[in-house]
Amino acid sequence: MGAVSPRRTATNRSAGGGGGGGGDGRAQRRLSLSAVRGVPRPVLAVVAAVVVLVAALVAVVVGETAGGAPAAHSAAVGRGGAGADSAAGADGNDFGAGSDATGGVPSTGPGAGTDPAMVPAAVAPSADVRGRVVVLDPGHRGGNGAASAQIDRKVDAGGFLKECDTVGASTAAGYPEHSFTWDVANRAAQLLRARGVVVVLTRADDTGVGPCVDARARAGADAHAVAAVSIHADGGPASGSGFHVIAPERAPDGVNAGILASSAQLATQVRDAFASSTGEDLANYLPTHQGIVDRSDLGGLNLSTVPKVFIECANMRNPADAARVTDPNWRQRAADGIAAGILRYLLSSPTN
Ligand code: ZN
Repeated sequence: MGAVSPRRTATNRSAGGGGGGGGDGRAQRRLSLSAVRGVPRPVLAVVAAVVVLVAALVAVVVGETAGGAPAAHSAAVGRGGAGADSAAGADGNDFGAGSDATGGVPSTGPGAGTDPAMVPAAVAPSADVRGRVVVLDPGHRGGNGAASAQIDRKVDAGGFLKECDTVGASTAAGYPEHSFTWDVANRAAQLLRARGVVVVLTRADDTGVGPCVDARARAGADAHAVAAVSIHADGGPASGSGFHVIAPERAPDGVNAGILASSAQLATQVRDAFASSTGEDLANYLPTHQGIVDRSDLGGLNLSTVPKVFIECANMRNPADAARVTDPNWRQRAADGIAAGILRYLLSSPTN
């Protein structure tokens, strides 16, 4: 499924024109003056007052359009992100906003103090994404391995029960998926914040436990996010390599019915941006080789009510992919691809 769609081009050529017809200004001015002379002074005063009033109204409307949205979104994030983390993370409520959660608050302006090289080049600068909220969900967590009682307990996964969370995959040499997802999520968050996007992470560190998949799924709605991306790396057969995006299929209980179309769009944009940023092949060990798989067995997608996808950035069990995920430079390109895909989605869905 999911044929590759044509890339959005960021070209914004001006429509030309603006040139000709200069010489008429004086004649028009004369005309309007002579017209004004024929009008009684009280009428002129009323007209002038109306003009001033209309101008003031326009100024207020424009001001609200430019400044109102970020303020509203900032307030939303305040509700979504509780800072401190605790060892009792598996209660499913410990959404941390991350150590530098305020880095992208709109008041600091896009790109303030940011290395230009860190900003994804795939999308032209634009104010359209400023103040919009995105949830990044770094899969698993460093403390899960020592907390089986907490992460093995069953939670609702969208019409059936499933484990709260899992330990995740690792490379043959022992580099764990939770470290990979934590690093890539923070790199992507930095890129998005540099563009003014408000990023909420579903966990505050890589040492605690959880949160459970149901809480990860609801993080998007909790933060009033316009999109959410869960970041993973697969533990597939060692002979297989490549990345893939997982898009939601209708959950057994139907909770996610409203996000299927928008999530499919997000999946396409993240896949295309990730492929071009990393050069990573589409996964070759799945039934489809299109790089997008629809699934209804993941609580993280079944319970989401905002557009959401998973990305399995590589197959950690494959030696070539293992070399990639353990390379910080590759992880930066992975983050760049994820951020660029999200930005493309935000720019293509301005009303969300
Ligand atoms: Zn995973």
